[in-house]
This record gives sequence, C-alpha cells and structure tokens, in this order.
Amino acid sequence: MLYSELVETYEKIERTTRRTEMTAYLVALLKKVPSEIIDKVIYLTQGKLRPDYEGLEYGMGEKLVMRAIALAAGCSLKDVEETVRKVGDLGSTAEILLRSKKKGVSLFDFMGEVQVERELTVNRVYDTLMKIARASGEGAQDTKVSLLASLLRDAKPKEAKYLIRTILGRLRLGIADMTILDALAISFGKGKGSREVIERAYNRYPDLGYIAKVLIKEGLEGVKNIGIHVGVPIMPMLAERLRTPEEILQKLGGVCIAEYKYDGMRIQAHKKGNEVTLFSRRLENVTHFFPDACELIRKHIKANEAIVEGECVAIDPDTGELRPFQELMHRRRKYDIKRAMEEYPVSLFMFDVLYVDGKDLTLTPYPERREVLKSIVEETDRIRLAEWKLVKSPKELEEFFEQAIADGCEGVMCKSLMPNAIYQSGTRGFLWIKYKRDYKAELADTLDLVAVGAFWGKGKRAGTYGALLMAAYDPGTDTFKTVCKVGSGFTDEDLAQLPKMFEPYIIDHKHPRVDSKMEADVWFVPAIVMEITGAEITLSPIHTCAWGVIKEGAGLAIRFPRFIRFRPDKSPEEATTVQEVIDLYRKQRKIVSK
Ligand code: AMP
Repeated sequence: MLYSELVETYEKIERTTRRTEMTAYLVALLKKVPSEIIDKVIYLTQGKLRPDYEGLEYGMGEKLVMRAIALAAGCSLKDVEETVRKVGDLGSTAEILLRSKKKGVSLFDFMGEVQVERELTVNRVYDTLMKIARASGEGAQDTKVSLLASLLRDAKPKEAKYLIRTILGRLRLGIADMTILDALAISFGKGKGSREVIERAYNRYPDLGYIAKVLIKEGLEGVKNIGIHVGVPIMPMLAERLRTPEEILQKLGGVCIAEYKYDGMRIQAHKKGNEVTLFSRRLENVTHFFPDACELIRKHIKANEAIVEGECVAIDPDTGELRPFQELMHRRRKYDIKRAMEEYPVSLFMFDVLYVDGKDLTLTPYPERREVLKSIVEETDRIRLAEWKLVKSPKELEEFFEQAIADGCEGVMCKSLMPNAIYQSGTRGFLWIKYKRDYKAELADTLDLVAVGAFWGKGKRAGTYGALLMAAYDPGTDTFKTVCKVGSGFTDEDLAQLPKMFEPYIIDHKHPRVDSKMEADVWFVPAIVMEITGAEITLSPIHTCAWGVIKEGAGLAIRFPRFIRFRPDKSPEEATTVQEVIDLYRKQRKIVSK
C-alpha cells in the first residue's frame, strides 16, 4: 500500500469539521488496508509507531529535522531556517522546499538525465521511522538525519509535510482511540454488539494496532479472548461523584468501604520477577521518573507477578506529612532524577489488585480483591494500603471524610461491597463514588475541562491568550461541547507559557470533534485538560454543553470560571462529561429550592 493513500485520507480529515465524516474517511481507508499492515496504518494515523505506553520516541528535535530537510532538498540549513520563519511550521517548510527541488528535477529530465523516484510505501515509511526511533548510541543523530533525508528524497511534497509532522509529534489530526474503535467496528465488526466487544478488549489491552490485527485475522471471537498481560497497562476504573453521604450510601446499598482519596498520581504497577513497570492514569510509562516507587514495589509486593494500583503521593521527608499534587510534578523530569528523588520523596498508598501470579482478578468483587491486596503488600512507612473504614451510616462517612481532609487528602472514595463490584476497566460507574472537599467557590466540585480554542489577549495580555474556550466531553457522540471561557485564575507565569504550550495543537479551523457556537481566534486539537472552578452553572444561549436538555435554545455554562491547575494526568476523554455538568446543574437547583 502506498503512503500517499494515507496522506489523501489525512488531508480529507484535516479539512472536515464533522466528526461523522472523520469516521467515514477512516472506515474507507481501513477497508482498503491489506491485513498484514493494518497495525502500521493505525499507528501512523495516530502519529505513532507503537502504543504510547511503550514510550518509543523519535529523539529528533527541530534542529535535526531541519538538517534532514536541507539534505533532501539540496539546500542550505539557512534556506530551511528562512523558510520556517516565513511559513511558521516545519512540515510546510519541507513541502515548499521539496516542491521547488522537484521542479528543478524536471529540468534535469528534460536535459536527458534519468531520475528514478521510488514511491513511498507504508511499509517503507513505517520501517524507516522505526529505525529512526531505535537508533541510539554514538552517531545516532547522524543516522537519524540520513534515514529521514532518504525518506524525504522519495517523498512527494505533501507526503513530506506529514512525515515531518509525524516525527515532531504534531500530526494534529486529533484522531482519538474512541474514533478508531468506532471505525474498526464499522469496518470489520459484525452487527450491533461489535463495538462493545472491541472496546472491552481495548480496556484490557489498549493497543489498537494489536486489536485490529486480531480482529482481521480471528474475528470478534479472537478479540473476545484478548486477556490482560503483565507489562501491558489496563485502562483504569473510574469513579462517579455524588454530593452527600446520604446519596452515596443509598447508591451503595447502605454500606461501603470508604478510603482516603489521596491527592497524588495514580500508579498502575506491573511486577514480573524483579522487573517493575509503572504506568500513569493515562497509561504513559512513567517508570524512569520513580525509581524509588519501583523499588518499593519490587521489595514489598509479595508475588512473583502482579498488577497493583495505588496513589503515589509526595511527602514531607521530615514529618512524613502528605504534600499537594503539584509537588509531584517536580518528579516528571528527564535529568537529575536522583536529586529530585531526594527533594521530593514519595509514598505509595495501594488500593487495588488486578492480577496475581497467573490469576486475573478483574472480575473478582472488591472485598475479595482487597483481601488479596492485603496478603501481598508488606506494609512499611513508605508503602501501605490506603487508609480505610467500613462505614454504615452517613454520620460515620462524614466523620471519616473529615479525618481524611485533616490528614491532607482530597476527600474519600466510597467503594461498593456488592457481589457485582468487579474492576470496571475503562469505565466510570457507581461502584466507586468520590466525595470531595468543596473548594472555596460556590460550585460543589471542580470540573476537568478540555481547552478547544483561545482568544487573543489585550492590554497587559497582548501577545498571549486572554481566555481559553473550555469544553466538557460527550461520550455519546465523542465530541467536546463548550461550557465557558476562562481567563482568570492564571498566574503571569501560566499566561506567558500558554501560546508555547498550545502551539503543537493549533489548527486552522474548529476541530471536527468540537461543538461550539463561539468563534475562537485560535482553534486547538482537544488535548489539554485543566481543572476549573466557578460560581455556579447557569443556562446559556452561547454554550453548547447540554444544548436543549434543560431548556430549548439554551445550553449550560459555568459562571465566573477560574483556572485552578493543569491536569496532565488526564486525557481529554477523561474530562468532566456533559452528563456530569447536567447533574451538577440539577443538584444545585434542588438545593436552591430547598
Ligand atoms: P478524580 O481524579 O477526581 O476522578 O478521582 C479519581 C482518582 O482519585 C483516581 O484516579 C486516583 O488517582 C485517585 N485516588 C486517590 N485515592 C484513591 C483510592 N483510595 N481509591 C481509588 N482512587 C484513588
């Protein structure tokens, strides 16, 4: 299959503003792909070579990419730099410079020289990109440059644009995993239940290339049999939220296990003998940031093979007290991990176990999983089970909640003890219910919203964004619906870094997965999640969240929104949902009318 066929699809996707069309283009592409390379096409279409959790990187910054462009286009580095300055992005720069070179080539043809150009196949592109990513050690930079230049030499100008964007991690198509799942179900599934079967497999084994391959080769039956594997992260189970202890206990049948809700970073630890791998909630491989946490798992999880979950929390080394989530961000650095480890030590609070020595526990009810967890965690002052209590009354729950807050936690997690309390991988449900401390604002809870666009600032904010257009997620349609424009709560430092932070996500029109009536000055691929608070939820004629649900011709909006913090640990699909905004609105009304 030729790479140009992928590029044609990318161009169509880039031009559309409709989510359904985006899926239709993908389906048309997938149906044409030979089965042996379906995985490669899927990875490439998402701008990857392997699933994210494998942490494979190209290791090519802009400088090296410029060198490759210069080599392929037969021009100087200076020419490349000048063109970038004019057109603003390296993908278009490669397109322009190669186009002018090719024009030159036709002249040579005319003069009788034979130019053999090999058309790029998907296999060649994928395999060369893989070689680029894998090149390491001495001379690796030169190898990467010449490999990329060799691809560019044979690339058509348009192909070059997408190759460069891929290498720089800026494909900007914004095709989420959910969209690929839809496209796979339509292309190769059989009937209505297919999407569900495929999604369930994805939750246990979130490698879309692998799933597509099994689907094509073994059909839905094969996909059903995909199990969990130590080393491959599982999509985390998520919690619903309720506002009062009464509501929570009523939902959970009058009794539950309440656990401290630590304000840290969720860690899924995979242990295989002495080898430990840590995954974040977004399934990134974060092993190298936390050698100390790896050591705790290696030493104190008494099983040969296990998958356990817990919260990794920054602590004060002198007092052992819990520190806020932001402190953990200092641990996400590439260099000098040793010093960061000393300055920002962590503790682990374990709260679930999904697999132990050959046994998949995800279908085992929570009380039993907890017993297993207890039996394999050897507790020390640095690794412990999450603080917990069996509660049977709202009063007990409230007291435990107060204690959690006093101990530096965000609130409590209430977990169902019912026989159906399985580990619902990748699902937000009422088997876990969070009960969080109110922020000082009037809203009962904060919202995690996705930035989908921005408005240029004026006066003091000239040159940066004055406000961001924020949206909630609608899983039903896989789209993002706007709820507010947020401009306050940012520090000067936050503000200054916004344009650079969003640069990789800028597109020239509204993204097909975004539903907005407002015209932003700048549009983004939905990618960055931010925690927002506000005064209340109100009806709005301009925001599209819950459009027509409460009132015809109106949606819901947050009044006086304020930025609290970035949530790099959340993917856009994990943002607050439209339904959650509706629930917050209704609850607020109820309280007012009381
Ligand atoms: P939220 O991020 O508000 O949706 O809350 C869910 C998150 O709380 C999980 O992803 C965990 O990172 C965190 N958490 C803290 N303590 C616990 C606990 N005891 N059980 C489950 N999740 C917890």
